[in-house]
Amino acid sequence: MRLRVQWKWMASFIFLLLLLLIIQGYLLHFLKKSFLLSSLLSLIILIPLAYFLARSFTRPILEVTQKAIQLVSSTFDREVQVNSRDELGSLSKAIGEMGIQLRNKIEEISKEKDYLQTVLKGMMEGVLVVDGRGRILMVNDALRNVLSLTSDVTDKMPLEVIRNAELEAAITNVVRQGKTEALELSVTVPGGRIFEVNVVGILPSLNSTVKGSEGVRGAVAVFHDITRLKELEKIRQDFVANVSHELRTPLTTIKGYAETLLEGALKEEVASQFVQVIKRHTDRLTKIVEDLLVLSKIESKEFQMKIEVIPLPDFISDVIDFIKEAAEKKKISISQSKIPSSLAVEADRNYLEQVLINLLDNAIKYTHEGGGVMISAIGKDQREIQFSIEDNGIGIPKEDIPRIFERFYRVDKGRSQELGGTGLGLSIVKHLVQAHGGKIWVESQLEKGSTFYFTLPKRSEPIHL
Ligand code: ADP
Repeated sequence: MRLRVQWKWMASFIFLLLLLLIIQGYLLHFLKKSFLLSSLLSLIILIPLAYFLARSFTRPILEVTQKAIQLVSSTFDREVQVNSRDELGSLSKAIGEMGIQLRNKIEEISKEKDYLQTVLKGMMEGVLVVDGRGRILMVNDALRNVLSLTSDVTDKMPLEVIRNAELEAAITNVVRQGKTEALELSVTVPGGRIFEVNVVGILPSLNSTVKGSEGVRGAVAVFHDITRLKELEKIRQDFVANVSHELRTPLTTIKGYAETLLEGALKEEVASQFVQVIKRHTDRLTKIVEDLLVLSKIESKEFQMKIEVIPLPDFISDVIDFIKEAAEKKKISISQSKIPSSLAVEADRNYLEQVLINLLDNAIKYTHEGGGVMISAIGKDQREIQFSIEDNGIGIPKEDIPRIFERFYRVDKGRSQELGGTGLGLSIVKHLVQAHGGKIWVESQLEKGSTFYFTLPKRSEPIHL
């Protein structure tokens, strides 16, 4: 096979030489032995033949060259037919096949790249990829957004982008040793974020000859945002601590009085007073547990409301009747603004009653004797009704207002406990208003009074919290 082109060349050369000799012999005979003339004529006859023979040799070379050029410029989309059956033909065929395989491979790689880009774009987690030198190759959109990156970070060290030495050390370790690392990371972006970061090495392919950490080609760090999880964990811990604390105080008192009674005070005059204290603290415990149960019910998935149309003038009069006795005890007047007779709201009757009673109860509790409370309801626009409960009581300090709806938050714990408060009333109110799709807020001035506002949509769609 290897000799075929050489044989062709040799055979052609000998053929041309023989032909030259034969033609010249004939011409010498016919042209009366004029050697110069016969040589000239035989050359003229043989030149076109030599030209066609040379062309048949160079054509395959040109075709192979053309294929190679197409390969380089990646426009290899149709096969170039080379008819030569010698080595040049085989070379041309091999280049052709190489081209097709190359094109298929490129298509495959670009498809895989597209899939990867789509996956990275759709990921909620942040992804950072570094090369074997520990320099950034790419950062996905999620991480870009969370870190508010605006410029190109390619080829930078991770430390230049996220100022955290622990992360940098973890990435370096993975790149050097090929191990997997996990760490918790606090990032000082606005609002602060906490991530759980897993860093894994990019290992060589299975059939690579390089083994172990030698072959680590880089690392991928995946950032899971656990800020919300941490917040919830903190809320849960605080809640458990608060509940334990709230329950422990009355329990300690009950235990103390019960023990004193057992130790002999049972027969003394103070016994009935002690039992009264025990009863008061037991009531308090019961109230805390009941309020906690209400809160957990509102937050549960099974929480359901029975929405009905409630005409407001009658409804508000009924609520005032319910709370009247407590107000009269403190000589507090409760009035209602003129509510249009046609004003109605779609809500759960029991829960709306609970919202208003809690707010009125607070207004009475935190208003001095002889004060006044005013309740009103107005249709704000076609879609909303705004309620307000206004008192001229002790008011709420400015700095406490943002926290007033938190569980167990009380401005004056002693006063609240004295008045039988649990610190859960406003939290229940807020949850119930939100479950109806409404909003709640407060305006207050110390020693002047407070006004609690809440809105309810006229047509209520229950919202699961
Ligand atoms: P509590 O059972 O202590 O009343 P709430 O959740 O109902 O708990 O209220 C939380 C705190 O908000 C109260 O302890 C009190 O300090 C303050 N507060 C609520 N309503 C009023 C009001 N109308 N005037 C002044 N302070 C109020």
